[in-house]
Amino acid sequence: MEIQDPRLRSLLRQADRVSESGKRAAAEQLYRQIIEEAPEVAEAWYGLGQVTADPAEQTAAYEKAVALKPDYAPAVRALAQLRGEPVPAWAEAPVVEDEAVEDIPPPKPVEQMATAVSAATDDYELVCYRHPNRTTSLRCYNCGKPICSSCAIKTPVGYSCPDCIREREDIFYNAKPVDYVIAPAIGLVLSLIAGYLVARFALGGGFFTYFIMLFVGGIAGRFIGQFSKQAIGRRRGRYLPQVMVAMLILGTAVWLLPYILLGGLSSLFLFLGPGIFLFVAGGALYAYMK
Ligand SMILES: [Zn+2]
Ligand SMILES: [Zn+2]
Repeated sequence: MEIQDPRLRSLLRQADRVSESGKRAAAEQLYRQIIEEAPEVAEAWYGLGQVTADPAEQTAAYEKAVALKPDYAPAVRALAQLRGEPVPAWAEAPVVEDEAVEDIPPPKPVEQMATAVSAATDDYELVCYRHPNRTTSLRCYNCGKPICSSCAIKTPVGYSCPDCIREREDIFYNAKPVDYVIAPAIGLVLSLIAGYLVARFALGGGFFTYFIMLFVGGIAGRFIGQFSKQAIGRRRGRYLPQVMVAMLILGTAVWLLPYILLGGLSSLFLFLGPGIFLFVAGGALYAYMK
């Protein structure tokens, strides 16, 4: 196996297992995730070819797998069969190897959770890796570590340990530290511009202004999100949505501050327009960065 990154290797294993269990949509999503991060992994392309519903994409995926790894028998075989061409002798399906594949234990059934305590006869000597005083028969479907029922986290493909969940989240949240500087900086500049316009035109506005702010807020929030996300290669950060909303509030509040200091919040109606803007724009920005 030439995949160096252990996270990707674990993700690929997981994708294959999901695929084998017949959950094509879930497997497809996983394969796409791997390809997005590492487009050179032939196994992921082959896996995608097996689960995609689009015939054109299936062909393309197998072709890609074979191009990346010309001696990759399953992909060569699949592509030949798809095109109705004869399968090269070297790529014929091995008969013996099937046995080894069957050795992989099937994913733990969902019912196991309820019976974890009572039916734990054959491996009741297992103890939770986080709670050495708790016996269990549950194992993480991904890494196989024993987990007690309060540590087990239910996923669509089986019970997972907290470590594997965390690992998957780390794959999902791929933002680099510098992204936390770039995106907020861009967000702040755009928010300052938007905030200036809002303070200039929406402060003290009437009903018509509220209506406009409702509309403009959504567009502005989305625009700020789109622009900042583009700048950081569309990576996702765990705390980026919150940070971006903070920038929006900061960029708008700066312009409103003199008015608040001068008149206090005595006439709240004055700030209703900017308030609506912040609420709608913040919601749109948060949703976009998520
Ligand atoms: Zn695990
Ligand atoms: Zn536990």
